[in-house]
Amino acid sequence: MGGSPADCSPEAAKGGSEGFDLAVIGAGSAGFSAAIRGAELGARVALIGHGTIGGTCVNVGCVPSKTLIRAAETLHQAEAASRFAGIRGRADLEDWRALVAQKDELVSGLRQSKYSDLLPAYNTIAYLEGPARLAVHDFVTRWALNL
Ligand SMILES: Cc1cc2nc3c(=O)[nH]c(=O)nc-3n(C[C@H](O)[C@H](O)[C@H](O)COP(=O)(O)OP(=O)(O)OC[C@H]3O[C@@H](n4cnc5c(N)ncnc54)[C@H](O)[C@@H]3O)c2cc1C
Repeated sequence: MGGSPADCSPEAAKGGSEGFDLAVIGAGSAGFSAAIRGAELGARVALIGHGTIGGTCVNVGCVPSKTLIRAAETLHQAEAASRFAGIRGRADLEDWRALVAQKDELVSGLRQSKYSDLLPAYNTIAYLEGPARLAVHDFVTRWALNL
């Protein structure tokens, strides 16, 4: 974690002067859900994200893993077809790079449509890039921005 902490005030984010009602740390699926729900309920939300927007599921978790697992399943199923009398299947891994490129394209497309493109639709959510840090001594939530 680098950078110095800054007050969680809207001056740093949107130029307002009344502060935030809700600070959400982490811009993954849970953070986005919380921020959007907060905005829908009328809160001014600071969504503080560090690392690739979208978090684990879309970038390195559910989406890429299930894509590659489904692809591998087709190879397995083809081989397994011969368990049945009269059937012989065949599938080859012909181009690993092409498969990875397809997976990467799906990941970046979903990251864009399900995360990045959503933010402009909520003008009460300020996206703040940087590692958040909680400072409990004065009950003020602060984040450290890498500026
Ligand atoms: C390989 C794999 C496969 C998976 N497959 C499935 C599946 O098929 N189905 C399923 O339901 N779940 C699956 N999961 C689990 C799923 O990805 C997670 O449950 C889900 O992504 C958690 O979401 P989250 O928003 O809580 O956390 P994350 O998506 O991890 O987001 C947390 C974010 O907070 C950021 N952050 C952390 N600390 C700070 C800080 N101090 N300041 C600012 N930002 C910070 C992190 O960088 C990250 O971007 C899988 C996970 C993995 C690893």
